[in-house]
Amino acid sequence: MDKSKSNILKEEENKPSLNFIEQIIEEDNRTGKHNSRVHTRFPPEPNGYLHIGHAKSICLNFGTALKYNGKCNLRFDDTNPAKEDIEYVDSIIEDVRWLGFDWEDRMFYASDYFQQLYDFAVQLIKDGKAFICDLSAEQISEYRGTPTKPGIESPYRNRSIEENLDLFERMKNGEFPEGSKILRAKIGMDSPNMHMRDPAIYRIKYANHHRTGDKWCIYPMYDYAHCVSDSIERITHSICTLEFEVHRPLYDWFLDQLKVFHPQQIEFARLNLSYTVMSKRKLLQLVEEKFVSGWDDPRMPTISGLRRRGYTPESIRNFAEKVGVAKRDNIIDVSLLEFCVREDLNKRAQRVMTVLNPLKVVITNYPDDLVEELDAINNPEDETMGKRKVPFSKVLYIEHDDFMENPPKKFFRLSPGAEVRLRYAYYITCTEVVKDQNGEITEIHCTYDPQTKGGYSTDGRKVMGTIHWVSEKHCIKAKANIYDRLFINENPDDAEDFRTNINHNSLEVKTCYVEPFLLNSKPGTNYQFERIGYFCSDKDSSSENLIFNRTTGLRDNWAKNK
Ligand code: ATP
Ligand code: MG
Repeated sequence: MDKSKSNILKEEENKPSLNFIEQIIEEDNRTGKHNSRVHTRFPPEPNGYLHIGHAKSICLNFGTALKYNGKCNLRFDDTNPAKEDIEYVDSIIEDVRWLGFDWEDRMFYASDYFQQLYDFAVQLIKDGKAFICDLSAEQISEYRGTPTKPGIESPYRNRSIEENLDLFERMKNGEFPEGSKILRAKIGMDSPNMHMRDPAIYRIKYANHHRTGDKWCIYPMYDYAHCVSDSIERITHSICTLEFEVHRPLYDWFLDQLKVFHPQQIEFARLNLSYTVMSKRKLLQLVEEKFVSGWDDPRMPTISGLRRRGYTPESIRNFAEKVGVAKRDNIIDVSLLEFCVREDLNKRAQRVMTVLNPLKVVITNYPDDLVEELDAINNPEDETMGKRKVPFSKVLYIEHDDFMENPPKKFFRLSPGAEVRLRYAYYITCTEVVKDQNGEITEIHCTYDPQTKGGYSTDGRKVMGTIHWVSEKHCIKAKANIYDRLFINENPDDAEDFRTNINHNSLEVKTCYVEPFLLNSKPGTNYQFERIGYFCSDKDSSSENLIFNRTTGLRDNWAKNK
């Protein structure tokens, strides 16, 4: 078993109790409903990039299959050629893999089943269960009625089976214009469930499909294609989001009429996150209208955006687990997602020293040309990560915030006359503040105590503060992208137009000064910039042009930490 699979299994085993889907599965296994077989699927439509909500569904479908020693398929629900694209297919494959899941040889496309779907539709016509309707789209919605008022039957409802067969074949052959005819199920216009009122099965669309090209000009509707695809793949538990609950009678109706293998549809509440929009249409709008740099902009809730931001697969899987499987819609606080990545990175991220707002420090009693390579710990949480060398010299940068000329009580960092520890280096004492004509501090002068090498005194003298630093001569300038939330309020969808809630200051680009260790940082590596936050080297980062994206702060102090 490969490592990621066994990790996921371990995660599954550590779960405290069964969720309601697992309860259904265990009951099915007990009664032998599917011969104890568990087969799920993740069915994205390739019309956008996957987001954190999809990640929840991926973890649920693949995780459940793994737990019950079953299988999970990846199936592209590609029945709407107008909006779908191969770029999306590729990104979905990459993202599901990156999350750590494996569909083995079971990657399918609903379009693989177009012929079978067509044949089944012919069967429905032959059984008198479907008819060709010539009403226009407006008429159809007029005739549909309302939830409290029954609909009106289409005047075409009683066409003969022969006529329906002939028209359906001619629809397929491209004899009719788009929108002029559809194939509808013959169920009844008086159903209290609007989805059961003679719903559409096939429509005409002259669009090039990314897989079938121009072979088809009729395309199956989602409700029909989905249940039949599930059945063909012999899915046992078809897990989907709550809005499909009202579609379930139709899901069942098609499969009952066709007398084919009948999977059980089970609905759970979709994941909603505060400060986040999750609709693909809106995410596309953010991309197209250039509010962000692309689908993988680190502010996007897409899996590719989170990856670029520095989220790890483990942190996302853990988040999905913590969120749980609910039966009712709710909104999860985005800080839970941030908590999960912090928790993971704390254990794993390489620590480094980086200065974001530099203040120059001259160590007046340190030899001009001396450079010492000092030992620094890579991660105190994980001894196996070892140590590295950090160069120390006479001129340093520290964080501007770590110095105050007139400090309040309890300010334990640097101020005139005060002594602090430079992490891994020495105790220093501030002796002088140098200012320019405007009274702005340009540098500070300090003396160091050579007896405190490594940051510890030999005489038992203690200091209250420890600050980080970089050597001016050795540090490297890098770009730091500091992200704030993309929306200014918890529920971006509360406005008529969600775009009015966009935070236009969600990206601050800063120059930072990093220790030379980061020079050869590989894109996508996670770091903890000590005392600042978690950062990840951007995919476009190189030794000539280092770029780091802030994943999150060190603590959940978003409001204070902006
Ligand atoms: P569309 O409006 O384009 O259908 P969608 O978000 O439903 O958008 P799909 O590609 O159809 O996108 O989704 C694939 C799977 O992911 C579906 O099973 C869907 O139920 C699930 N899914 C989508 N969004 C969420 C979410 N926010 N939380 C949990 N599951 C989700
Ligand atoms: Mg969908």
